[in-house]
Amino acid sequence: MVQPSRLLIDHQCPQCGAPIVLKETDHLFSCPYCRVKSFLYTSDFFRFMLPHGAPKGKTLVYFPYWRFKGILFSSLQERIEHRIVDVSHQALLSANFPVSLGLRSQVLKLRFVSPETEGYFLKPGLPFKDMVEIVQKRFSKGLPRPIYAQTFIGGTMSQIYAPFYVDRKIYDGVLNRAISPAPPAHFEPTALPGGSPHWQIRFIPAQCPECGWDLEGERDAIVLNCTNCSSLWIQSKKGFRKLAFGHVPGGGDAVLYLPFYRIRPEITGLELGSYADLVRIANLPKVVQKGMEKKPFHFWSPAFKIRPRDFLRFSIAFTLSQPAHAWQPQMPKAEAYPVTLPIQEALESLKINLAGFMKPPGVLLPTLEDIGIKAKSLALVYFPFQTQRDEIFHPLLRLRTTRNVLTYARHL
Ligand SMILES: [Zn+2]
Ligand SMILES: [Zn+2]
Repeated sequence: MVQPSRLLIDHQCPQCGAPIVLKETDHLFSCPYCRVKSFLYTSDFFRFMLPHGAPKGKTLVYFPYWRFKGILFSSLQERIEHRIVDVSHQALLSANFPVSLGLRSQVLKLRFVSPETEGYFLKPGLPFKDMVEIVQKRFSKGLPRPIYAQTFIGGTMSQIYAPFYVDRKIYDGVLNRAISPAPPAHFEPTALPGGSPHWQIRFIPAQCPECGWDLEGERDAIVLNCTNCSSLWIQSKKGFRKLAFGHVPGGGDAVLYLPFYRIRPEITGLELGSYADLVRIANLPKVVQKGMEKKPFHFWSPAFKIRPRDFLRFSIAFTLSQPAHAWQPQMPKAEAYPVTLPIQEALESLKINLAGFMKPPGVLLPTLEDIGIKAKSLALVYFPFQTQRDEIFHPLLRLRTTRNVLTYARHL
């Protein structure tokens, strides 16, 4: 299995100024010195830069790269294939700079980009979705055709700026080495669009927007919990947004609650609005009875990072079983596993989830291309899984994983 890289970031506590080291998967920062908790907030994605070691007096030019870590799922004739993707790629197409960051970002500690940083930051010119297409092509090599649907699920997406300077030739500002044997003709990087970065990481107080109580969560959790007013909060474009949630009680003593998104979809190009439709599309060994036409269909997806094979298995098993338990609108009393998979990623996965149960695949898979899926409503539901030492399992749905495997997947 590919070992995904783990980047580290040097920063300082926004409250007491103590030096701290963050992981790129961190969202909730709890200062070990002043104990203040804050949430690392950005309306889109994190922007980092590599530390430079250039001699004094050089004008640094920061070149942007996309960084992406996640899983590429491809729906093929016979199966759904997954590949772990861990790449960086130019965010501005240029023949004068290296195509990728190479291994440097894994060796050096990064810093957050900030408007005070000296240097000329080149403006990214390649939208994320174009980068995804390039990477998708590269990672689809060797896959049998046709590919009916493909999606990236992850994952970590960020921008990393690498420093360079021009001294007749272009120099790598980290290693102080020329990156090409000859100086490029008429090359003036500061003539390209760019300037000071307008972006800054924000640390927002991890406090309940409703009652002011301290929110709780693990460092890589994207959903925080207010134990005072029993509410859950997720990052949105404008700070925290309240999330509809609940838990299904049960499971006995040795239990771990795993979070799942329940998504009511709006589907175009396919009749899949009710439980009866699901029975037909998945060719389930069930007789369609009255009531089933009225029972709305939901997609289910794990709300935590889990290895690719299990992600599919858990998604499909939950979606096919359409759990309809009454849930209680509180957090479970027993241990609840953190939400680490963004809603957007769960939504991206729905087509692959669908591809996993359509029957007969030969007839239905070719229609995938014309099917559109959007979310109408969403809730987070915690389900009890039984535990025995390292093992975590759901006897009824025959799902199984281990704590070890889950811990590993958290780095994706
Ligand atoms: Zn502090
Ligand atoms: Zn509260």
